[in-house]
Amino acid sequence: MTPEDKNAALRQLPAVDEVLRFPEVRDLLAVYPRGAVVEAVRGVLGGLRAALLRGESVDLRPEAVAAGVAQAVLPKLRRVVNATGVVLHTNLGRAVLCERALQAIAAAAGGYTNLEFDLNRGKRGERYALVEEILCRLTGAEAALVVNNNAAAVLLALSTLATGREVIVSRGQLVEIGGSFRIPDVMRQSGAILVEVGTTNKTHLSDYRNAITERTALLLHVHMSNYRIVGFTREVSPAELSGLGREHGLPVMSDLGSGTLVDLRRFGLPYEPTVQEIVGAGVDVVTFSGDKLLGGPQAGIIVGRREYIARMKKNPLTRAVRIDKLTLAALEATLREYLDPQEALTTIPTLRLLTRPLEELKALAGRLAGELAAALGPEVAVWVEEGCSEVGGGALPTALPRTACVCLSFPELEAGEAARRLLRAEPPVVTRVERDALVLDLRTIDPAEFPLLTGACRTLLRGGTQ
Ligand SMILES: *Cc1c(COP(=O)(O)O)cnc(C)c1O
Repeated sequence: MTPEDKNAALRQLPAVDEVLRFPEVRDLLAVYPRGAVVEAVRGVLGGLRAALLRGESVDLRPEAVAAGVAQAVLPKLRRVVNATGVVLHTNLGRAVLCERALQAIAAAAGGYTNLEFDLNRGKRGERYALVEEILCRLTGAEAALVVNNNAAAVLLALSTLATGREVIVSRGQLVEIGGSFRIPDVMRQSGAILVEVGTTNKTHLSDYRNAITERTALLLHVHMSNYRIVGFTREVSPAELSGLGREHGLPVMSDLGSGTLVDLRRFGLPYEPTVQEIVGAGVDVVTFSGDKLLGGPQAGIIVGRREYIARMKKNPLTRAVRIDKLTLAALEATLREYLDPQEALTTIPTLRLLTRPLEELKALAGRLAGELAAALGPEVAVWVEEGCSEVGGGALPTALPRTACVCLSFPELEAGEAARRLLRAEPPVVTRVERDALVLDLRTIDPAEFPLLTGACRTLLRGGTQ
């Protein structure tokens, strides 16, 4: 390109002010801060300038430039449509909060709160106290403490109860959870010394008993979470372990992972011990997540004996992993739903989605398939299939509840490419691909999202961008 060619090309570019006057861009100014829109316009013009200088042909029609700006000004953290059927999708933010939790967050976020202020005494209070009573009421524990997430809860408990001393764990429970949380690594980080007992598939109570020495600080039970050992197996129950702990004057801890307050067997899901059962079995410290089966915000919940919880509250690490006020607001609201467990099944999205009846899912799949077929025309194959959803979040890995899916097959377009194009829709749609078909699992789809899905699929046929 000669310098004259370059200048001629660059002269075609509109100025920033000009783009800001495009009607579509003016609409964006009503939604986003002016600075963010200006920044997006600069970014888009910069990209176009670079393309022109490389001699590429670019689309400079105002609609096209405005569409680029609309895309560039979107926040990085965005709402997506979860069509994967995975209810607790860790990459998609795990639990969706219940309506009252959303209201509680808005109320706590928009003004001052009594976060650490005791209104009865007019003095400084403890943030943990706000949910301690309800956690004890729901789980039967003597005391409770909440922190940033369950990984932090385990680290805090180990570092409080076992630094420099030994913790006995079954080999079959040395699990790795997603995001590089591994029991042996957390143990090392806490300063505790791991003592593995038993074998991968079988651990007996005598294995724990034989490993107890004067250096032992804790007996630890870890929920296997995202995997299962089947066949010739033996695991020591939390009740047996707490009996052994009492015999030797040692605390027993259970990292329950997901943790549930309702018995899910009633809905055809596999047995998961409830937090109440583990506390009732005499386990001294129980930790679990706020945003797995509980269906609340990201949090780590620790319940158990008063003396151990009191020691954890004094650990300086507690300050480093403390829970914030928005999480506390959402957690309290979520826990209150459990005061009527039957009602919680309909008000808490995680529980409602996990227990959605197959008949309901099939009826919705039929409706969505009809809408998609009408919108996409005869060359796209659309059909309904029954399948299985995953629970996700490392909970109930063998559950695979029955579900209904809408499958799509596009002419001259691989399902994988169709799935990638749907990620560029607004809002992005996350799907599954199975046997070269695009699969939309109705379990995690709300009927209110049907128009978004048909719109996004229509757009992907045209090449992907809206
Ligand atoms: C998920 C899980 C954790 C980590 O919990 P986060 O809330 O994600 O930090 C720890 N232990 C077990 C057994 C788990 O399943």
